[in-house]
Amino acid sequence: MKKKFSTIIIGAGFGGLNAAIKLGKKNQEVLLIDKTNHHLFQPLLYQVATAGLSPADIATPVREILKKYPSITIIMDEVLDISKEEKKLSLKSLHTLEFDNLIVATGARHSYFGNDQWEQYAPGLKSLDDALRIRENVLKSFEKSELESDQQRIEALTTFVIIGAGPTGVEMAGAIAEIATKTLAKNFSNIDPKTSKIYLIEGGDRVLSTFHPTLSEKSKKDLESLGVIVKLNSFVKDINENGVLVGEDFIPTKNIVWAAGNKANPILNSLDIELDRMQRAIVQNDCSIKGHPDIYVIGDAACFQDGERTLPGLAPVAAQQGKYVATIISKRLPKGKRNPFHYMDKGSMATIGKSKAILEFGKIRITGFIAWCAWCLVHLLFLVLFRNRVFIFFDWVYSYLTEQRGARLIKNGPSNRNID
Ligand SMILES: Cc1cc2nc3c(=O)[nH]c(=O)nc-3n(C[C@H](O)[C@H](O)[C@H](O)COP(=O)(O)OP(=O)(O)OC[C@H]3O[C@@H](n4cnc5c(N)ncnc54)[C@H](O)[C@@H]3O)c2cc1C
Repeated sequence: MKKKFSTIIIGAGFGGLNAAIKLGKKNQEVLLIDKTNHHLFQPLLYQVATAGLSPADIATPVREILKKYPSITIIMDEVLDISKEEKKLSLKSLHTLEFDNLIVATGARHSYFGNDQWEQYAPGLKSLDDALRIRENVLKSFEKSELESDQQRIEALTTFVIIGAGPTGVEMAGAIAEIATKTLAKNFSNIDPKTSKIYLIEGGDRVLSTFHPTLSEKSKKDLESLGVIVKLNSFVKDINENGVLVGEDFIPTKNIVWAAGNKANPILNSLDIELDRMQRAIVQNDCSIKGHPDIYVIGDAACFQDGERTLPGLAPVAAQQGKYVATIISKRLPKGKRNPFHYMDKGSMATIGKSKAILEFGKIRITGFIAWCAWCLVHLLFLVLFRNRVFIFFDWVYSYLTEQRGARLIKNGPSNRNID
């Protein structure tokens, strides 16, 4: 393989992939590096974690997506170090590569706010491994309960605590409630899954705080109608193998999901530039880093100030930045001739459960079945391959009609230490 490329992109998420496609269409030389071989559609990850979808439904091989662009080379490897002065990358495979232009699109991981020891009991949800681990925890907990005679242990196994009431936390809480009360309702003899307790813990004073307060209130009511116990203004003080300490109350549980915080990928440290409190690279208005107009950081890895606000970690932000940076590179625009990046906000949505969702676009606010249909449609359209759209569409129709979840498999893969 060559040692030097015109453009190197690190990460095949929403940002990196969109940049690669745009450059590929212009027949520009690109090397795309990702530590996995797939593009992951994170917005539907919670459905893998809750057995609604299979991993292959939302993870698409990068080589398949980009096969029609001969100017793009793809390698599966992990970048360990970036030297911005020498314009060089060091890879886990011990290769060293040089670039003229670099796009860093390495995404984010969860942050435990300095309590990394909690991760072993409270996995976050970012990768397929995370999702499969959570699925394993949820399903195994019910199986273990069926064997138990100790009521306290049954309660701990069938209590689920989700920490953080952003979109991921709300979607997880709603989906677990539906598993317990509908999908598994009549599947066990010794236990009644409908008596499971599902807590959603939030430090702020409302769920889905980036939405209008009326939508937050509606979502909270929807969650409660599914049986979720929503605790607002509540702070987690400790997590251990027996449960969660929330304020002064200890909730015994073997099932905790962390959906409370993000931080950017540690690879950004090697750029030796200013980072924000979420460890994201503070970028300029053309997404490049200060003093290095050919090195760009985009998507969840970047802290981008768009007028008054810092752009949120959303798929459309990453995708639009990827396309924007690719245009600068393909047109070889020097620093002084670049128009600043502006995010075109096409609205936000979140789902709570079957027929329950919220949608906000400017002053337009929609809830309920119509919002839920719009949520399904938008997510289907955003999937990269037609095959995935078809498979997911039929999975959803099947689940809608039967309340069943097609991916209820326990593989005896990694689950929480406290369940095994
Ligand atoms: C559970 C969940 C639900 C979400 N729901 C929504 C939603 O409903 N709507 C929405 O708009 N957004 C949602 N998001 C956010 C959205 O997915 C992200 O904003 C988006 O994925 C960011 O794109 P990105 O390209 O910056 O990073 P990512 O998509 O995270 O991609 C980063 C890529 O970089 C690779 N990588 C990382 N480090 C290295 C390295 N050192 N070497 C090589 N490769 C590396 C990773 O393997 C990965 O493929 C959700 C996120 C999660 C986790």
